[in-house]
Amino acid sequence: MATILTSRAAKGVEELLGTAAVRRAFAFFDAHGNEIIEEHIRICSIPAPPFGESARAEYLCRKLQEIGLTAARLDEEGNCIALRRGRADSPLLVVSAHLDTVFPAGTDFTVRRVASRLLAPGISDDGCGLAALIALAFTLQEMQIETEGSLLLVGTVGEEGEGNLRGVRHLLTKGEWANRVDAFLSLDGPGMDRITNGALGSCRYRVQLRGAGGHSWGDFGVANPVHALGRAISKLTSYPVPRQPRTTFNVGRIEGGASINAIPREAVMDVDLRSASEAELLRLDAFFRRAVREAADDENATRRKGDLPLELNVQLIGQRPSGETPVASPIVELAQETTRALGFTPRLDQASTDANLPISMGIPAITLGAGGTSGSSHTLDEWYDPRGRELGLRRALLVMLGIVGLRRG
Ligand SMILES: [Zn+2]
Repeated sequence: MATILTSRAAKGVEELLGTAAVRRAFAFFDAHGNEIIEEHIRICSIPAPPFGESARAEYLCRKLQEIGLTAARLDEEGNCIALRRGRADSPLLVVSAHLDTVFPAGTDFTVRRVASRLLAPGISDDGCGLAALIALAFTLQEMQIETEGSLLLVGTVGEEGEGNLRGVRHLLTKGEWANRVDAFLSLDGPGMDRITNGALGSCRYRVQLRGAGGHSWGDFGVANPVHALGRAISKLTSYPVPRQPRTTFNVGRIEGGASINAIPREAVMDVDLRSASEAELLRLDAFFRRAVREAADDENATRRKGDLPLELNVQLIGQRPSGETPVASPIVELAQETTRALGFTPRLDQASTDANLPISMGIPAITLGAGGTSGSSHTLDEWYDPRGRELGLRRALLVMLGIVGLRRG
């Protein structure tokens, strides 16, 4: 079965590569490398902290309208959506990149150029996908490439962290397009070999402990929320994670206390739990919640007689489903054949991206790198090198046309 699909996918890619439309588009990418870089810099210079993506979303909307996708608009959640109608409404393929970054409001998003590199927070994740989305839309319009099915070009909000996939969740479950999407392609980050068909599940918590507080000497014995967090972290780090399926935990943020000689009134930590397997994630999740409860109980058990116990509040602040678009599904076959046809060896992987949500709903979905290289992702030193980007654009275009079909003649 797989070989039949593979050969069919390979034949489809070969046919596309032989068409004048695709050859024209490829030449267009090559000729407009500098304009794509300029556009990349423009969109990444607009701040887009979590829950603060609106200026960037509005810019993307205007840009797509300018290109000729006049129906581009913002939806109720803040996503930018532009339909590019084909001959038929279906198949309807979403091509998305995420607008948000992990960086808080107030971050300097100014883009610097050093040799061939672009440097800025979010320049690669997902500035690279946004630049590709605009370049692909521009090329389809300028080259007047018509499709059989239709494309829904989307800049999503809330992909990172506490955004908890709110943009794609709204798009696929609540908005105008809910239940109408046949396939989903997310462009996220750089690279030419990666095909993310696995959705890495995660659970994220904010743990808050509150107590009476007091003087470090005079009130010694009052239950200490920071000590309780310490006990909880110690328990969590003793968890025997399996190597396969890959399973991880991280205490990523911790906060609390006012002074070295005061027993804190409050302590907070944010914890991220992940696993490639839903069953392992459930096991880790149960262990974590028990560890936190026991840590609070242990700390309370040592408290001075008559004092109030610590109050524990565990809040689930993010949950992403895991799952997989099967290797033998047409979209994965097509992406693999396309990657090979462009001279690269496809590498299937698993990650936490906008594709998690459609995958969990049974919609064929993958995430592709949009070409070029990058480093120091999710840090202030993030960089992107656009050399080779045109290959990423070629790959994305071929996958898009492979799914919706190129309208000929
Ligand atoms: Zn990303």
